[in-house]
Parts: sequence; C-alpha cells; structure tokens
Amino acid sequence: MDRLLERPIIRGSIRYVKGVGPRRLAQLAQLGIETVEDACHYPPRRYEDRTHLVAMGDLRPGELATVRGRLLARQLRRLRGGRTLVEATVSDDSGVSLHALWFNQPYLAQQLTVGDELILYGEAELRPRLQMVHPELERVEPEEAGSVHMGRIVPIYPLIGGMSQRWLRQVIATTLERHADSLEDVLPEPLRRARRWPVLPEAVRDLHFPRSWEALETAKQRLAFEELFLFQMALAQRRAKTTTQRKPQRYQTEGPLTRALLSRLPFTLTGSQRQVLDELLADLRRPHPMHRLLQGDVGCGKTVVMAVLIAAAAQSGAQVALMAPTELLAEQHARVIGGFLGPLGVSVALVSQGVPAAERRRRLSAIASGKTVVAVGTHALLQRQVAFQRLSLVIIDEQHKFGVVQRAHLARKAEIPDVLVVTATPIPRTLALSLYGDLDISTITELPAGRRPITTRWLREAERQALYALIRRELAQGRQGYVVYPLVEEGRGSAELKAATQMARQLQAEIFPEFRVGLLHGQMRPKAKEQTMLAFARGELQLLVSTVIVEVGLDVPNATVMVIEHPERFGLAQLHQLRGRIGRGAQPATCAVVSDAADETVRRRLTAFTETADGFELAEQDLQSRGPGELLGRRQHGWLRFRIANLARDRALLESAREEALALIQRDPDLRDPSVAALRSRLAQLRQQAT
Ligand code: ADP
Ligand code: MG
Repeated sequence: MDRLLERPIIRGSIRYVKGVGPRRLAQLAQLGIETVEDACHYPPRRYEDRTHLVAMGDLRPGELATVRGRLLARQLRRLRGGRTLVEATVSDDSGVSLHALWFNQPYLAQQLTVGDELILYGEAELRPRLQMVHPELERVEPEEAGSVHMGRIVPIYPLIGGMSQRWLRQVIATTLERHADSLEDVLPEPLRRARRWPVLPEAVRDLHFPRSWEALETAKQRLAFEELFLFQMALAQRRAKTTTQRKPQRYQTEGPLTRALLSRLPFTLTGSQRQVLDELLADLRRPHPMHRLLQGDVGCGKTVVMAVLIAAAAQSGAQVALMAPTELLAEQHARVIGGFLGPLGVSVALVSQGVPAAERRRRLSAIASGKTVVAVGTHALLQRQVAFQRLSLVIIDEQHKFGVVQRAHLARKAEIPDVLVVTATPIPRTLALSLYGDLDISTITELPAGRRPITTRWLREAERQALYALIRRELAQGRQGYVVYPLVEEGRGSAELKAATQMARQLQAEIFPEFRVGLLHGQMRPKAKEQTMLAFARGELQLLVSTVIVEVGLDVPNATVMVIEHPERFGLAQLHQLRGRIGRGAQPATCAVVSDAADETVRRRLTAFTETADGFELAEQDLQSRGPGELLGRRQHGWLRFRIANLARDRALLESAREEALALIQRDPDLRDPSVAALRSRLAQLRQQAT
C-alpha cells in the first residue's frame, strides 16, 4: 500500500496546495517547507502594519517605515565599473515624492511599470532628496476586500532568490485556510486552558496574519511553549526510563583504592569537589543507573573527581570507558588518570589511532579479557572491535563534540551502564536544561584555593614589542607560554596554517632565539603531536605556538602567559576555554589578546573578556549575542533548532515547559490520559525518527 496515502494531508507534501508547482517545490524545501504542516509553522521574520501606512510627507530620516505610492518614473543608469542603478520615483496622496534606489539589480527596471502601486519598506534618508536605498519592494495588485496583502498586519517572510513575498504569503494563506483546522495539537487541553492560550489553528493564523499585536505575542508564546514542551517531554521520557531501570552492577564506593588515591593527592579537594564527588558516588550506590552531567569552569579540577570515581569502580571489579573528543585530550587523560591510578595497580590503556597495529591488538585483548580496567580513547572506543568484559561505568568528556546518539552508542557496550558526561564549557542553565534535560546535573562551583586570578589584557598591534618583552620576562624566570593562532580552515597547505607555521618560525629565529619554540597543530601526526605536547609538559619547550586545539585540556601548571592572535574569530566561551590553559599553578598569569579590531560588537566582546573571569557569565553573553550555535557547535545546534522558540530569549518559558513535562510524566508515566493522546503519538514518532 502506498505509504503516502496513509499519511494525513497535514503531514503530506506542500505540493498539494494550490499554486505550488514542481519548480517552487524545491525552493520551498530550501526554506524548510516540505509539508503542509511546515508551511503552517513557517515563521515570518517581521510584520508590517498595513492598516496605518506612513504618509510620505511624514517620513522622518533615519526611521524604518512602510509607504505606499504610485510609480511616477523609473530609469536604469549604468555607472562606472559596470555597476547599475535603478531609480524609481514614487508619490502618494501627501503630494511628496520619494526616490528609491537599487544598485546592481537592473532587472527591477523591467519589472516596474509607470503607474504601478508599490509598497516600499526601508530607511528614509534626506540626502539630498527624500530617498530610500535598497528598500524592500512589493507590487500592489488591484485588491479585493479582505486581501491577505493589504489593510492588515502583514507577514514578511525570509525568502530565497526569485520568490516574492506576495507569492509565498498567498500560498501560506491558502494553506491556512484549507488545513489549519486539521493541525494536531500536542499541547494537553487542560494546560492550554489554564494559560488561556488560543487553540492551535487560531494561534497559527495569528502567527501569520495577526488580528493585533497582542494576539501575535500570545500566539508566539503558545507556539514556542509547545515546541519547548515537546522537547522537554522527550527528555523527561528518556529520563523516566533510566530512573526506573535496575542495573546489575554493585559498587563499593569506599575501599582501598579510593582511600589510597585520596591520601596520596598533593592537595586537598575543595568543598565543591567533595560535594560533587559525594553526589557521583551516591549515584553509583543506587540501584538505578547514573545519568549525570558534571560541569565546572576550566581549572576547577574535574579530572581528579573522575579519577576517584574510576577508583571506586575499579575496586568494585568494574571496567571503565573514558571517551574524549580529541586524540590530544585522550592522550592526556590516559597520562593523568594513569598517573593517579597506575601506581595503585589499576591498568589504564589508551586506544587511539597513533598506536601501532600489534600493540593495539594487545591492548584490545587486554580490555576484552578484563585485565585492563580503564580504556581511554576518542570515538575510536565506539568501534566494534573494542569489547569489554565487564564494562559498567562510562565517562564521556565531551566538550559538546559528541552527539546524543554517540553517547547512547558507547553506553550500549555495557548492559545498563552508569554514565557520566563531563563538560568543560560552562553552559547557561537554559542550554543545559535543553541539551541535558535527561541528566542530573552536578556543578563544581569553586576553583582550588591559591589560584591567582589571570590578568587579561587587550593589546593593539602597536604594542607587540611590549608584549614580547613581557613574554621574555616570564620565560626568563623559567615559566612557559602559549601563542594561540586560530585556524578557521585547518586543511593541509591552508593559508592560515602557513601563517601559524610562519609565526612559529619567526618567533624562534628572530624574537626568542634564546628559548625553544614549538608548533602544535591539528594536521600533525598523532605521534608528533604527542611528542610536542610532552616536550612542552616537561618544560623542554618554553613557548608553544598552537592552533585552537590547546583549547581542550592541556594541563601545564608552569605556563603563565598566553597570547591569543585574532581573538575576534572566537566566541567568548571559547576564549575563556583557551585562557583556562594558564593560571593553573601558583604563579600569577597573564593572557593577552592582540587585535586592532574597531568593530563595535568585537570591541564589546573583547572588553567583556578582559573584565570577566566567570565562564558561566561569558557563556551567557555568548548565548545572548550569538545564539546557541556558537556555544554548542554545529551538530548539537541542529538538534536544538526550534522554529519559534529562542533559547536566548525564552528561558522562563523553557523552565515552565520543563516543570510541566516532569509533572506530567510523574502523573501519567505512560501517557494514557485521552488529553495527551496526540502528544503520545507525536513523541513516538519523534523517537522513531531519532533511531
Ligand atoms: P579541569 O576541571 O579544567 O579539567 P583539571 O582537572 O585539569 O581542571 O585541574 C586543573 C589543575 O588543578 C590540575 O593541575 C589539578 O591537579 C589541580 N587541582 C585539582 N584539584 C585541586 C585542588 N583541590 N587543589 C589544588 N589543585 C587542584
Ligand atoms: Mg579537564
């Protein structure tokens, strides 16, 4: 049987809507509109109140406005350098005329006919005449009463080339008229009523053709809530599943290994480390599997907490998998964790691409036989050849590089494993709830005592010599430093990689001939990378020129100075991560960003960076100014792409969506109530898509 026939029209292709031909179908798909339902939810980017248009005589320079008038004249002029200018003169009843200018859109001249009624939207200028440069343009056809294009608040959509506002507006209006009433509402009716929100068809109509600005606001709230609620329900269901599961493994959380490890530490744990550790160990003791996120600012000491947790697993006869996002970090984890646990007789093995085949086979068989207790690696740990004898604890140090799917994948190597996700990037609460709403969250909130705050300075190119003098002073005292060079494209032979390489060479040959300068970048072979990193960790290199990969994890307490070149290319959270590589010892540390950038937003960001030491606050600012994509990287961003909801803005809505979702799951774990039937089937459908 044709599967399409089984599908309700609302989830069927948009091609069944009048006015959509095969050519338009592909264009609509580019906008993310494939089904009738997609069209109903396609959000306008702005609205125009065409009930009150501004008279041209009332236009004020510098203000955005919509005007309507008749085209009196138009001409196409060829300018120097092959550029073109279309100039149109438009006038309305106020008797004033307005000049509209478009550069390099010569085809407009053909599309415009003298006598046309036009709507123009743009910023009015008075130089030298009343004019608008590159206004948005729409032709007014002779309208019937109740038109979708005039005399009301009208939606303006994001478009792609060749598509007109009028056309898309008409298609969406037709879609709504025919199909909005069959939209399926996943919001439980009692919840909707309690908030006095309109029913779904009404909300969706107001999203496109609002009856008033207030109605638009309510509609947006309701639709955003629905999206967030659905998402939180999916997380709550997943969470409910793990909290009812029973795991086979039992742990002895106090024992010889944990005792030995804690008594040998060269420092005492901070109160915050202790508390978080207690939470983690309590999770192990519970009959249900652990599903927890451990977060904390750079340098707060997450690694040692992981080590104690691993020791608890090891003394209970369990095996542990520790997965890191990069080879570099996996190598370091193997070294640091091995350093903590090796002397206690716990064998830690690194599974990475850099390991020769024979050695790799040997390590894999030791993991399979259970002789190796802790396996550390990148996503290489996910490969089928990596089999464990009794894996029960999985730790994922993720830095947002792993998707939820990969998380699940590794967890499948054990029956019902305890899972700890560790993230070094502080995440604002809204994002944490969205991304990790299925996990419990532990946060290390303090840095170890004795840390001196890092001084951060923003220097100009002209101050470079002074900067080098500062570095020289540090190195001369036996300290070390980083010069970070961001690579947007790190392909072999990329111009940027050459620039970083060139910089390393110049620093060595001309600026710091008396010190040893190393170069670390992503294109190096794993062996060479490891050697460079080791040499730096041992102090054989004093200055390390590095591409962004030092961001993850390098821990060299003797490093006291960092220079970040082209800081404007980084987000605030990323800059903060980088800065976290220094100030890890008892010495004061300095971070310098070098930039002549004059751009206002860059200026604000760099100033915030020099003034704020709190990673959570910087992450929050990134979220506000650049959206979640910047903080999360592409993969997870895709996962969080909401149509109406906006994580930077709708935090109160998210919190309440989460509360409602958790309450509902508690009340009705299997969603049996008739009022949540639509919700239940949508969730089932989402689960199916996810696998
Ligand atoms: P992160 O949380 O960024 O992964 P690390 O675990 O790498 O931080 O710890 C940063 C540094 O602080 C390491 O050199 C570590 O040995 C040290 N450290 C961890 N905990 C403490 C503590 N309680 N007191 C002093 N130093 C600590
Ligand atoms: Mg770390």
